[in-house]
Amino acid sequence: MAPRIKVAPLPEDLLSAYLVMTANVVGRFHENEERQDIASPFLDEPFAHVYVGDEEVVDFAFGRARQAQQRWAETPIKTRQQIFRDFHDRVLKNRELLVDIVQMETGKNRLSALDEVLDVVSNARFYANAAPRLLKEKPMPGAIPGLTRSKLQRTPKGVVGQISPWNYPLALGISDAIPALLAGNAVVAKPDSQTPFSLLSVLRLLYESGLPRDLMQVVTGSGRVVGSAIANNCDYLMFTGSTATGRVLGKTAGERLIGFSAELGGKNPLLISADADLDRSIREAISACFSNSGQLCVSIERIYVEEAIYDEFVSRFGTAVNNMRLASGFDWDADMGSLINADQLETVETFVENAKEKGARVLAGGRTRPELGRFFFEPTVLVDVPNDADLYCDEVFGPVVFIEKVANLDEAIAKANDTSYGLNAAVFAESETGWKAAGKLLAGGVGINDGYTATWATVASPLGGMKDSGVARRHGDEGMLKYTEPRNVAEQRGISMRGPASLPRKTYGTLMANAMLWGKKLKFLP
Ligand code: NAP
Repeated sequence: MAPRIKVAPLPEDLLSAYLVMTANVVGRFHENEERQDIASPFLDEPFAHVYVGDEEVVDFAFGRARQAQQRWAETPIKTRQQIFRDFHDRVLKNRELLVDIVQMETGKNRLSALDEVLDVVSNARFYANAAPRLLKEKPMPGAIPGLTRSKLQRTPKGVVGQISPWNYPLALGISDAIPALLAGNAVVAKPDSQTPFSLLSVLRLLYESGLPRDLMQVVTGSGRVVGSAIANNCDYLMFTGSTATGRVLGKTAGERLIGFSAELGGKNPLLISADADLDRSIREAISACFSNSGQLCVSIERIYVEEAIYDEFVSRFGTAVNNMRLASGFDWDADMGSLINADQLETVETFVENAKEKGARVLAGGRTRPELGRFFFEPTVLVDVPNDADLYCDEVFGPVVFIEKVANLDEAIAKANDTSYGLNAAVFAESETGWKAAGKLLAGGVGINDGYTATWATVASPLGGMKDSGVARRHGDEGMLKYTEPRNVAEQRGISMRGPASLPRKTYGTLMANAMLWGKKLKFLP
């Protein structure tokens, strides 16, 4: 039985009513009566429900979104900016409620839930500020200087499809949609079936800020039905989830010849140099490995420590992890919360048992904690993990990390890069050592003396995965430009590109060759 918890600041029945109301308002186009109960890792009983969508509902959502998008594309950028600036403030004002809802759906600790709110406001602020710069028409150097006038224009893709996972349902539900909407698109989104309310709740705030109601549609339901239908209807697909699903959706996007952005899995390494500050390394490593109970794409699952400090790090890190406070509930004290569900608990347990059978030693954790809640698993540190243990290469996506001794940073870098993934990596070291090592790590984000929060929170710079960890990027200019069609509009003035009509073709050929030659030499051609 799940422990009794106090829902704060809203009483449980009021929160439940709010959630059902939110689902009804947003999901107003659902005509079938099939409902899905939504459970909380904190509770024994479902706490709300949503309607289950199907292909027909997705078609309907796209129809409404397409109409709304045409009007929205004509809406001045200043108006769009204003909506998202208002949304920024509204999210901050309602942060306690949003954090409650995220915690309720996922069972994560409060600090990890707050991270989601901060991510949403950072993206709203950054893209509201950046939109005019990124979307404005830009004059380009023409083919014939002075005679060819060219402009780079960016038009919206149309309706962007978005499919997101359960681990950061608020941040991954809305933050990637913000640049898409600001760029003039509509969005049809599918949250994970287990965690629809985080997105539905924040979307209400976006409507209150003035977003036209049909411009962003949420269709709840399964990935197989609703997710596939979205992939088959959209003009660009933004996906966050597992590498396996990413491959399936990549095929659809390839067949339909639409743009595709995929943020996928990782097996993220952390390197600890002999010159690292140990106190700081231990604090940061705990955050890097166990935030959101390790159910984080950029979470650290392997630590390579230089031998000079290996024994001390292992001993102090093990003690610190053993002292972490696990709890259900809505206060700020818990260092770690629950896993999301029984499947996730079983996956984590199976990985740990497999490693133990192969000879790994448990330095901290390693057990389920049913007295704290149905899906609790201790933050777990393993050593002596042989390379045939499943978790040596495979992503656990849970609170499990292993530590390995290395002779030097070069060996650590080689091991770190020896993976099919390339999402996140970190190095804890003196600044100069850290930057040198960072340059050799093959990952879309690399933290120095920080596990992942500094790269994730730096929304002005693009972030994503190399190799099997993804395609395209979120954040930064790329995070908005991918939702646009760049096009080249060129006006030829005065003389034709083919020269005067009377010019013989052979002379034209000689003139063009000379122009290219001198254009390069004298740098008057771009
Ligand atoms: P998943 O199984 O791929 O599910 C993610 C989303 O895709 C869910 O909404 C799911 O819907 C939907 N889906 C599943 N199969 C689909 C299909 N055939 N067609 C269309 N949609 C489909 O991922 P997960 O296991 O829940 O999430 C954990 C994984 O996501 C981990 O590997 C993690 O590393 C990765 N992740 C990556 C990032 C990143 O930014 N790189 C961030 C977070 C998580 P339903 O579940 O509702 O059916």
